Amino acid sequence: MSREKIFFTPGPSELYPKFEEFLKDFVDNQFGSISHRSAAFKKICQHTDEQLRELLAIPAENAVMFTGSASEIWERILMNCTELETFHLVNGSFSKKFYSYAQSIGRHAHKFEKPMGEGFSYSEIKVPEYAELISTTQNETSTGVQMPEADIHKLKKNNPKKIVSVDMVSSAPIPDIDLSLVDTAYFSIQKSFGLPAGLGVWIANEYCLERAEAINKKGSIGSHHTLPELWAQSRAFQTPSTPNVMAIYLLGRVAEDMNRRGRATLQKEVDQKAKKLYSYFEKKDGFSLGVAKPEHRSRTVAVINTERASSEVIAALKEKNLIIGAGYGPNKESQIRIANFIANTPEQIDTLLNAFEELF
Ligand SMILES: *Cc1c(COP(=O)(O)O)cnc(C)c1O
Repeated sequence: MSREKIFFTPGPSELYPKFEEFLKDFVDNQFGSISHRSAAFKKICQHTDEQLRELLAIPAENAVMFTGSASEIWERILMNCTELETFHLVNGSFSKKFYSYAQSIGRHAHKFEKPMGEGFSYSEIKVPEYAELISTTQNETSTGVQMPEADIHKLKKNNPKKIVSVDMVSSAPIPDIDLSLVDTAYFSIQKSFGLPAGLGVWIANEYCLERAEAINKKGSIGSHHTLPELWAQSRAFQTPSTPNVMAIYLLGRVAEDMNRRGRATLQKEVDQKAKKLYSYFEKKDGFSLGVAKPEHRSRTVAVINTERASSEVIAALKEKNLIIGAGYGPNKESQIRIANFIANTPEQIDTLLNAFEELF
């Protein structure tokens, strides 16, 4: 099967190069019809669990759990790990949405907000005393701003009693987040894992589970996908309800392939492509970089300011079957977003930059 278009959209995104091969194996094995209580399913689930643990260096203590999406995990974290107060580092649309989830389920939600395109300096973060959760977004997909891993680790070190959560939706497995130093992290698979949407992956430590059990004794942690239930089922390579078996299977195969290539190799390749993208648009007339500070510039989602309307740029590239993203929310017409995920090969990035040279 050949692909006519190349997607540089930051989610849903270009599919992993071997996606068709893995999908064919799924179909040929008739995994779409097996019971999710069967030994065959447990084997699939165990394989995905093991490959993710290797890829992301997930501590044995932590659980790896499957949900419908990353935004579902926002609500799970709020309901299972907090009772009253939360604190959110907001610098774009996704981090703001998590904050608004906290407000709408009645938490006293605090935020420290930065204008679009800016990141956080560690020294200016003041964590409210009674916040139970510190929500960080390692890669804010709407603005192309990343948070340095060391700052996230430091937040936990200096606030040991608070739950530190890390949104890695559009960057995992690239950043070096040490999952033994934070409490919970999560992603969905339609961004940097190069798969169709429909699965969230929730990694949590025992401290999160303890919190959920304590809150459950006096109040409510909800009914769907509670942490204690997801946790217990995941230990047996099972899920509370019928899961997206296809996505779990494909994720296991993609993670296995990423492990074969080696995370260090993937990181190096992503960084080389990012460098190429940013140095091109830094010099290109009519374009400039959306994120001023190099340390806050995303490795996986390049956000670029455009002098002409972004819709014009997007349409011209589309004629050549190159699909890039518009700016997000208020920046829709003034920015473009280019995914630099693992599935976007160095050759594809070259093809895209050659097209920019030709067109603009
Ligand atoms: C896409 C995205 C989400 C939401 O993921 P869904 O799978 O759509 O729920 C959350 N955070 C970030 C940073 C994202 O890019």
